[in-house]
Amino acid sequence: MLNLFIIGPSGCGKSTQAKLIAQKYNLTHFSTGQLLRNEIAVKSDIGLKAKSFIDNGNLVPDEVVYEILTTNLAKINYQNFIIDGFPRMLSQGQYIENFLQQQKQPLDLIIHLDVTFEEISARRAKMGIEFQDKERTDNTPEAMAARQKFYDDNNDAIMNYFASKNLLFRVDGNRPIEPIFADIDQKISTLE
Ligand code: AMP
Repeated sequence: MLNLFIIGPSGCGKSTQAKLIAQKYNLTHFSTGQLLRNEIAVKSDIGLKAKSFIDNGNLVPDEVVYEILTTNLAKINYQNFIIDGFPRMLSQGQYIENFLQQQKQPLDLIIHLDVTFEEISARRAKMGIEFQDKERTDNTPEAMAARQKFYDDNNDAIMNYFASKNLLFRVDGNRPIEPIFADIDQKISTLE
C-alpha cells in the first residue's frame, strides 16, 4: 500500500511525474486542480463555487477542496493513491494527516519538486502560448503570478512540518523528466 502526495510550484511538472509514478506503482492519480476543472466543465455546484477562484489564480476555499478530495478518496477506500496539487497550505496538510489517520491509512510521503521560478519561466517561454493547456482558463500572467505568490507564502511551512516528521522528499526538478523520475522512483522503492 502506498499513499503519496506531490507538490511544487505551478508549472513545475508535478502532474507529469504523478502520472509516471501512478503507472509504475499502480496507484490512482488525483489532481485537485483537475478534479476542480472537471466540476467546472459539468457546471456542478462545486464547479460554480470554484471557478472564479481558479480563474484568478487564487486558492479555492478549503471546504470545497476537502469535499471533492474526500469524495474521490472514498471511491478507492482511501488507499493506493498519488495526489497532485495538495496540500497547498499547512492547514490542508494537517487536515489530510488527521483524515487519513481516522481512516486508519498511512500518509507515506510528500514529494516536493524543487523548481526555480527562472526555470518555470524559461519552460513557459520555450513552450509558447500555443502549447499551453487549452482547457485551462487560468494561464493569464496575473493568475500565474497569484499562484506563485500563494506557493511562496505557504511552502516553507508545509515543508518544515512534514520534514520534521520525516515524511518529506525533495527532488531537484530543474532537470529533464527522466532523471527526476529516477530519483523519485528510487525513494519510493525504499518505502514498499
Ligand atoms: P493546478 O492544476 O494544481 O495548477 O491547480 C489549479 C487551481 O486549482 C489552483 O490555482 C487553485 O485555484 C485550485 N486548486 C488546486 N488544488 C488546490 C488546493 N489544494 N487548495 C486550493 N485550491 C486548489
